[in-house]
Amino acid sequence: MPIATINPATGETLKTFDALTSEQIEAAIGRGHERWLTYRRTTFAERAGWMRAAAELLDAEKDDIARTMTAEMGKTLASAAAEAAKCAKGMRFYAENAAHFLADEPVDAAAVGASKAYGSYQSLGVVLAVMPWNFPLWQVVRFAAPALMAGNVGLLKHASNVPQSALYLEDLFVRAGFPSGCFQTLLIGSKQVEQVLRDPRVAAATLTGSEPAGRSVAAICGDEVKKTVMELGGSDAFVVMPSADLEKAASVAVTARVQNNGQSCIAAKRFIVHTDAFAEFSRLFVEKMKALKVGDPMDPATNVGPLATEQGRTDVEELVDEAVKSGATVLCGGSRAEGPGWFYPPTVITDITTEMRIYLEEVFGPVASLYRVDDLDAALSVANATSFGLGSNAWTTDPDEQARFAVELEAGNVFINGMTTSYPELPFGGIKRSGYGRELSAHGIREFCNLKSVWVG
Ligand code: NAP
Repeated sequence: MPIATINPATGETLKTFDALTSEQIEAAIGRGHERWLTYRRTTFAERAGWMRAAAELLDAEKDDIARTMTAEMGKTLASAAAEAAKCAKGMRFYAENAAHFLADEPVDAAAVGASKAYGSYQSLGVVLAVMPWNFPLWQVVRFAAPALMAGNVGLLKHASNVPQSALYLEDLFVRAGFPSGCFQTLLIGSKQVEQVLRDPRVAAATLTGSEPAGRSVAAICGDEVKKTVMELGGSDAFVVMPSADLEKAASVAVTARVQNNGQSCIAAKRFIVHTDAFAEFSRLFVEKMKALKVGDPMDPATNVGPLATEQGRTDVEELVDEAVKSGATVLCGGSRAEGPGWFYPPTVITDITTEMRIYLEEVFGPVASLYRVDDLDAALSVANATSFGLGSNAWTTDPDEQARFAVELEAGNVFINGMTTSYPELPFGGIKRSGYGRELSAHGIREFCNLKSVWVG
């Protein structure tokens, strides 16, 4: 992949960048490590001051950076501005809470024969973040805000198609007052990641992205015995039971599927509907999917912009075409119009069988798979018939059913009667092939800490 801004709405290359050389990577790691040796001694109050300043800048600049994000990966301008605002909120959350999330944990000193004993959360050092393009700011900030507040320093290898968003983030943290070298963007291709991971001055890595990328980074870090957090793909279920408010469920289903032009890890992708609700839910859902306006993401009237890359659109198209050839039924969408840009229409597809690739794989575009089931056990069985486990939804007003979904849906997040979303207050992450480790909340900030036992005789 070239490191370049290519407008997905037109296919036009707007700006290209050279990748760093091996020597430049080496120098950046050196700067980061040197900085960590002093930065780790700064106080929570100092770090919080810089983090709040970054949030202020981001709030003030959100419309400008939103245009950059939209030009680089095609999300609608309104959703880009909302993402920037969410980042500012996440920064303030960690500025406010890091000190008590990382407070010493005293233990009964007498029980361990000490005069004083406690667990102390200390920084690890330089952490590499390998990040995807789909939320160009938020994916990074949900790593960077806790990592910097914990006293770590960050290196960012962002996706090759969002270089300007990546450079903006480094600049933002510098302007906010963080000492230079605390957060550096490395414009590098994926093949150069190994050099960074193998460097002994790099302590740990986090990756948000696809399963193959995660497997590669986790394998190298395993070889180096370095800590990793993996936030990978999802093929999340959205279960609708007869007691649900079907009008509301159908409206949220549309948003849950087409948010970010259908390219969200936690987007609902498989809609599993009880037979008693199927006719009404599918009628409402298809009607609302058909009503969406596809077009220029800079236009405020647009609901769904283009997919971020040409390859991404080809992948979606092939999954749908193969399913249709094998007997699946398209209820809306299903084929794209000719013309510039990597657009794909909101699509609902049903009569899917277990042999189809679409049954098993993540569809990273605005395509909903619709399944009819006879009862709750069947709903759980289809929902869990995936190698992923990120953020499932269930719609029911029955407390017994809610309790079963909360326990038996195999996922890192379960949202009942609402859409899966990440909140700074809630732990976020997956199970199965959606990854491991947690971001956000107190758990996220502790992932890249050395929980050191301190014993004083
Ligand atoms: P991707 O192709 O895996 O890329 C993600 C990042 O990994 C990019 O920076 C990419 O660099 C890099 N990369 C790719 N292959 C690599 C390798 N072999 N070694 C080291 N780095 C490598 O994923 P994407 O297309 O950007 O994002 C879509 C995927 O991310 C979907 O599966 C989605 O579900 C998942 N995702 C998960 C979460 C979550 O929180 N669980 C959140 C958002 C997205 P280049 O751009 O240079 O290739």
